[in-house]
Amino acid sequence: DSLTVAELAKKLYKEPSEIIKKLFMLGVMATINQELDKDSIELIAGEYGVEVEEEIRIDATDLEVYFTEDDAEQVQERPSVVTIMGHVDHGKTTLLDSIRNTKVTAGEAGGITQHIGAYQVEVEGKKITFLDTPGHAAFTTMRARGAKVTDIAIIVVAADDGVMPQTVEAINHAKAAEVPIIIAVNKMDKEAANPDRVMQELTEYELVPEAWGGDTIFVPLSALSGEGIDNLLEMIILVTEVEELKANPKRLALGTVIEAQLDKGRGSVATLLVQNGTLKVGDPIVVGNTYGRVRAMVNDLGRRVKDAGPSAPVEITGLNDVPQAGDRFVVFEDEKTARSVGEARATQALQAQRGEKSKVSLETLFEQMKQGEMKDLNLVLKADVQGSVEALAASLLKIEVEGVNIRIIHTGVGAINESDITLASASNAIVIGFNVRPDVNAKRTAEAEGVEIRLHRIIYKVMEEIEAAMKGMLDPEF
Ligand code: GDP
Repeated sequence: DSLTVAELAKKLYKEPSEIIKKLFMLGVMATINQELDKDSIELIAGEYGVEVEEEIRIDATDLEVYFTEDDAEQVQERPSVVTIMGHVDHGKTTLLDSIRNTKVTAGEAGGITQHIGAYQVEVEGKKITFLDTPGHAAFTTMRARGAKVTDIAIIVVAADDGVMPQTVEAINHAKAAEVPIIIAVNKMDKEAANPDRVMQELTEYELVPEAWGGDTIFVPLSALSGEGIDNLLEMIILVTEVEELKANPKRLALGTVIEAQLDKGRGSVATLLVQNGTLKVGDPIVVGNTYGRVRAMVNDLGRRVKDAGPSAPVEITGLNDVPQAGDRFVVFEDEKTARSVGEARATQALQAQRGEKSKVSLETLFEQMKQGEMKDLNLVLKADVQGSVEALAASLLKIEVEGVNIRIIHTGVGAINESDITLASASNAIVIGFNVRPDVNAKRTAEAEGVEIRLHRIIYKVMEEIEAAMKGMLDPEF
């Protein structure tokens, strides 16, 4: 079989010029109508992570295929996308509101803030995008669906309250996602504020301030009075520079759904975070299992806009159905392709719903290990008291089986909650409950996500079970 450059480009949903350039880099001079041999086709397809079968067949319905790297010459700096997490009542919402109110993009004053799930502020001529849903539930739900959206996590700790269970959850969620962390020590205006205690407590989680020889940025502030917020924004800019976040504003847009709902008047409304490229009104688009054409775009100030570049959040209409938060979106060259990819995805989703999906389970662990799919066995441990958590963790870490490492990605005291499950789902982990049970939401989510929960009352039973699974000797549990 052979294809011309133009035909191959079309199959890969790329510009012919891009293919010609790639060929040139591989030492093949080609024109647009030139026939390519099988080797060249395979080479080029491989560059895009596409496997060539007998006849050129591409899984064009897998949206991840389109999230390709850009040429170094085409990329530019992009704003960072920030999520604020922390314990309840430590001031996440107040901080988000306060940043927004004091820093609404200069020159755009007069706009009426519109809650679309994310907003942008400008600091020293640079933009920062904040996701407007505080907390790690949204953060990890997205990650569980395969979308890495957040570049920097701000963890808010109230200076009068110190590190609390959800602070620890937030830290572990951010660490599991390998996202840089900035600590906002909030409520500094309060009499009882004790920032040293916060810093002391956080050293336990390897978050050590620079003054104590670590590399974690701590910013004391008051979300209520606004004091220290400028400093926090400067630190975000600093970390953004270190991270060297890049995107190519010239390509067709791709990114992730922040939120979506059905609006009585406007139909399906979705807030999209553009992660690469530029999104334009009129663009043919596939969003999750939906598709359409971008009819209208509104920014976080409620203004109609014609385009949205990298890291910008915009609310769009024009989709045939309502997508889900965490879904990927991809813009296509023409409406016909968008429609066929969108329809194929909707059909696949229906079929998948009927089948079962399942993540790691102890019963299949050994098989996965043998096939080289698993090197780490990720665990989330919950127990009734701190002493048990520690004893259990220490014992588990002593198990030695060649070929697998045990990684404990989160521990906590109390019932297994939804946050434990989403974290386990995103990290392909098993949840172990010691003298505790999952709550209703956790149970439901675990079933939906295919996360395995094992409940025990005796430490050596946990050890026995994990060790047996690692060695492939586990009796199936019915
Ligand atoms: P969230 O649950 O983390 O979103 O916390 P909220 O933003 O709702 O704040 C919880 C409470 O703490 C509210 O009553 C806020 O007014 C108060 N609060 C938040 N930030 C500060 C602060 O910097 N100083 C003081 N004194 N109170 C604050």
